[in-house]
Amino acid sequence: MRDGRRQLVVIGAGFAGLACARAAAQRGVETTVLEAQPEPGHRIRTTGVLVKEAADAWDVPRSLTRKIHGVRLYSPSLDWVDLERPGYYFLATETGALLAWWAREAARHGVEVCWDVPFSGSQDVSDGTVWLLGQGFGCEYLVGADGARSTVARDRGLDANQELLSGFELECVGLGGVAEDRLHVFLDSELAPGYIAWIVPGTSCYQVGLACRHPHRPDPEQLIASLSRRFDTRHLTVLGHRCGWIPVGGPLRRIGDERSLLVGDAAGWVSPLTAGGIHTSIEWGRLAGIAVADHLLDGGPLPHQALRRSIPSFRYKRWLRRLVDIEMPNPVVDRLLSVPLMRQIARLVFFHHRGVMSRDAWREWLGSSRARLEGLGVRS
Ligand SMILES: Cc1cc2nc3c(=O)[nH]c(=O)nc-3n(C[C@H](O)[C@H](O)[C@H](O)COP(=O)(O)OP(=O)(O)OC[C@H]3O[C@@H](n4cnc5c(N)ncnc54)[C@H](O)[C@@H]3O)c2cc1C
Repeated sequence: MRDGRRQLVVIGAGFAGLACARAAAQRGVETTVLEAQPEPGHRIRTTGVLVKEAADAWDVPRSLTRKIHGVRLYSPSLDWVDLERPGYYFLATETGALLAWWAREAARHGVEVCWDVPFSGSQDVSDGTVWLLGQGFGCEYLVGADGARSTVARDRGLDANQELLSGFELECVGLGGVAEDRLHVFLDSELAPGYIAWIVPGTSCYQVGLACRHPHRPDPEQLIASLSRRFDTRHLTVLGHRCGWIPVGGPLRRIGDERSLLVGDAAGWVSPLTAGGIHTSIEWGRLAGIAVADHLLDGGPLPHQALRRSIPSFRYKRWLRRLVDIEMPNPVVDRLLSVPLMRQIARLVFFHHRGVMSRDAWREWLGSSRARLEGLGVRS
């Protein structure tokens, strides 16, 4: 630190903040992360399932993960269909340990990570410093990676997430009858209006959760009562819980100014449809770190302007979210899930993270439709 001023301060040691800090530090930016929690994984606010692309891009230690090869999608009446894609898998994670590993990775690249240091506000000084209130130091540039309800966004007058899901998850043992190689996904507009419920056979326990469109509130007791219609819950023991907000309105527009930038959930970088945000937090958090380094070290454009080209708008997923928000009655959902076309769409959503309208997704869909028609004796 020179003259009580760091080059870059990142608020939040989650996936996005650490990815951004690591990339900037690796390029020579003097980088500090301030995290409100006393240690990594102290309070976990995610299920922590990684898509294959994230694990591949990032060389996650396999000892902290468990592969799951497909999705079992349940209708409200608990009929189900298995969805798979050859060669594809998801990874359940030892999430606290994974965050600790990710923090060590950042430190290895030169990032100073300070735990138990909450950010409360900032003040711009005429010499270009962003002064951090109550910290006794400032920085040249500030990044807010402090989650869906970002204090940095509020403090800097940037956009804030308006469309949110409220998520709640139980960590439990003693749940009988769960196929271990599936992510179990439950569609039920009464139980989880605006989203889904789930069982993830995790690395050391079952993660049983649900999320609802705000202002609905997740009701874990109702969830267990509903699951007991298909699974053996008599010996279920709850070990802990996780909860948090998920932004589903898509990437925010005003995510930066001359001296600051939002990344990750704070910037709305979450799929509006699947509500997965870890992969995007890491991938785009890294791009943000590169943009900040280019700006600070080489006079590159303001980072939020540089990022504009790289962050997609999630246009189609936002449309599909509107459909989910209609909260269709359960009998309609039951009927829809029995239609092969709807199952194909569900498969695209779960297995094509590059976009449900991507060329790959449609090529695969056309391929499987042709194979089915040929199976029926129809030649195209
Ligand atoms: C219940 C639930 C389940 C989910 N499941 C999945 C899933 O399985 N797969 C997936 O891809 N996505 C999932 N998501 C979404 C995913 O967790 C997020 O998109 C992702 O974690 C965002 O990372 P982030 O670093 O932007 O924010 P966060 O992970 O929220 O990290 C923000 C960090 O900032 C810190 N912080 C906050 N305020 C301050 C402050 N004032 N000062 C200092 N530090 C502060 C917080 O303590 C936290 O460590 C889930 C979300 C929820 C809520």
